[in-house]
Amino acid sequence: MSNHSTKFLPESLEAMRKFSQTYAQRTGTFFCSDLSVTAVVIEGLAKHKDEYGSPLCPCRHYEDKSKEVLNTYWNCPCVPMRERKECHCMLFLSQDSEFSGSAQSIDSSVLLESIS
Ligand code: SF4
Repeated sequence: MSNHSTKFLPESLEAMRKFSQTYAQRTGTFFCSDLSVTAVVIEGLAKHKDEYGSPLCPCRHYEDKSKEVLNTYWNCPCVPMRERKECHCMLFLSQDSEFSGSAQSIDSSVLLESIS
């Protein structure tokens, strides 16, 4: 018997969690061995998606976020990631990175625990 209640993720957080998993699998990249890094980036993407309609990269500073979204360059997956598999947020890491783990998935509960 368990009194563990089901946790519901806000829609954008869940959308970005699923996107990250699918994209890691598609590109053959891996999440950081420290999944709290992964969680914080996913949360940042979800916040931008909620506020600006697009998952603008959360690891950069912008003068004007709405303008930047229209530029599309830093909408995740950004151009450096798409062209060269370069993710400076450490969300998508190549296998030979010293920071990469072996996971291409992150559980909803792990995600929520890391950001709460
Ligand atoms: Fe996404 Fe690019 Fe930011 Fe990585 S660096 S989280 S791929 S936008």
